[in-house]
Order: sequence, then C-alpha cells, then structure tokens
Amino acid sequence: MERPSPAVQDYLKAVYRLSEDVDGPVTSSQVAESLGVTAPSASNMLRKLEQMGYIEGGGRQGVTLTEAGRAGALEVVRLHRLIETFLASTLGMSWDEVHREAEVLEHHVSGALAERIAEALGHPERDPHGDPIPTQAGALPADALSVLWDLPEGTAAVVRRCDDRDPELLRFLAGVGLVPDAEVEVASRGPFGGPLTVTVSGGPAVEVPPDAARAVHVEL
Ligand SMILES: [Zn+2]
Repeated sequence: MERPSPAVQDYLKAVYRLSEDVDGPVTSSQVAESLGVTAPSASNMLRKLEQMGYIEGGGRQGVTLTEAGRAGALEVVRLHRLIETFLASTLGMSWDEVHREAEVLEHHVSGALAERIAEALGHPERDPHGDPIPTQAGALPADALSVLWDLPEGTAAVVRRCDDRDPELLRFLAGVGLVPDAEVEVASRGPFGGPLTVTVSGGPAVEVPPDAARAVHVEL
C-alpha cells in the first residue's frame, strides 16, 4: 500500500494520540487544537480521511480510527520513535532535541531505511522518552501507567514515559532526574494545586510544578 501524504500522516498520528489520551472518540476541535490549525480545516481534512477509509464516525460523537487508520498511524509512530532513538543513541543528541527533528524526518525516511535503523540499533523497544516503539507488524504493547501528578502522598513508583513535545519541559525533567527508569516517591502535595514535592532515586526533595508532573507517566 502506498504511504499516505505527510499531512494525512500528521492527522492520523494526532487522532491516534488524542484517542489514547481521552480513551475514546476525538472531536475535530480537539484535532484542530492539537495540530494548531483552524476548526474548519480540521473538519475538512477529517472528511477526506473518512473518504479514504482511515476514520469513521464524525459529528458530535467524534471520530475513531479504522483498522487501516490505526495501521497508518502506528507506521508513522514507529518511524518517529526509531528516528528519535537513532538520533539520541547514534548521534548523541539530547532527548529534548530529537522530537523536532523526528517530526520532519518521519515523513521522508523510507520503510526500508527504517528497518535498517531498527536492525542497527538492535530492535529497540522504547524511544529516549520511554515511549514504546510499535513493531513492524504494527503491534504495540499496552502500558498500564499512572500520571505522576495523580499519585497520593507517600506513593512510590518508577518513571516509564515522559511527554516528548516540550523541549523546555524535558530539560527541566532531566535536571531533576525524572527520566525513564528513575524511582520517584511523592513526599507531599502543595495546597491549591501547588507543586508536588518528590524525591528521585532517594535524593533530596525537589518541587515539580503541576504541568511537569502531568507529563510524567509512572508504573506503581
Ligand atoms: Zn517524539
């Protein structure tokens, strides 16, 4: 099957990511917001995706990916995460730099080159942010993770994934040691939605602002 255009791939990826976040159908305004486009252009494109057989549903209920849509989304997610891993482990780029490059390269790397990269890297299972890399067959293990921000005081957990989209946030997380495989314990929670105070791998207490704590996904 021919690979969809970059614009179609970006929409498939956005619908895929949003439907994971909300755990259900996504509306065109959610898609518009996530891609930074106007609501009319998002509805337009979503209608095209429906005609192409990538999504179904629509209207107020929102849309879901068809099997072909999910396969298309996972293919570009695989390329994105393989490229991030390659840039980090082979070129030594830091985890806050690789996402932006991968956003561009994911549309231009051929499937054959991606498989050479996967092979050279020993078929990695996770990218530098801890996100699982879908297999070539489109399989992706389900994670049962919690958001750090949601943990009650006294809870201990292991960091598994960090949201990859905000470089400044990633630099902050790296600075306090909140990276995949770090052990974290919630010491206290500030009043009025204030910062979460945590210890990382038994070190001194650090304050984590709400937006940062919401970007960290942990396993209890
Ligand atoms: Zn990324």
